[in-house]
Amino acid sequence: MNKKLLICFDVDGTLVDDTVFIWQTLHEAIGTDPEERQQWANAFWNKKITYSEWAQKDIDMWCQKGVQRSDIINHTKSLKPMKGAHETLRLLYEEGHILGVISGSLDIVLDAVFPDCKNLFTHVYLNHLIFDDSDALVGIRSTPYDIEHKADGLHEMARQTGISMQDTVFIGDNFNDVSVANAAGMSIAFNCKSFELEKAATYTTSGKDLRVVLPLIHEFAQNCVVKQR
Ligand SMILES: [Mg+2]
Repeated sequence: MNKKLLICFDVDGTLVDDTVFIWQTLHEAIGTDPEERQQWANAFWNKKITYSEWAQKDIDMWCQKGVQRSDIINHTKSLKPMKGAHETLRLLYEEGHILGVISGSLDIVLDAVFPDCKNLFTHVYLNHLIFDDSDALVGIRSTPYDIEHKADGLHEMARQTGISMQDTVFIGDNFNDVSVANAAGMSIAFNCKSFELEKAATYTTSGKDLRVVLPLIHEFAQNCVVKQR
């Protein structure tokens, strides 16, 4: 009998194609100062500021440029769903699995690229942009679950959905997915850009069609054996 799994996805580079990190894509489109961006990124990676403070600094730069909701939507128009993503999400949902998102991306990106898939996700953990009544960007509610804390997000989602950690799956593409790949019962490095993630993940797939994960998940649902990494 197939087990019910909690299957979580990263967004940028996994569910959404044409971006490695949406933050960088938007900074470039908005035209913020690369030196200031780098200064705050360095401050975060050197542990001088928190993730939440880093996110706020980035958003402050966008606010100073007078960014509106429509600007963000226009800048994300070129982003497309990963090939096979809709079919993969629908099939896994119809099979009775619980689907989730754990990502450092932005809510507006998921809304724009997957307008008809939001109901498929039981829980979505990512960054939420805040706009005022005139649709001007005014702030951010940052996720506590990016980078090394993605694993905490999976533990929290497993607790909330009543699924054992052994029966969790994570699919991601980059170094910020390493912690959650280590924590999940089974993990897949998809469209992978990180040797560290390749080492951490149970499987590494090739190509850019998300349907490649389906046979791996189906096999895991039947056996639910924790693979040797
Ligand atoms: Mg990613």
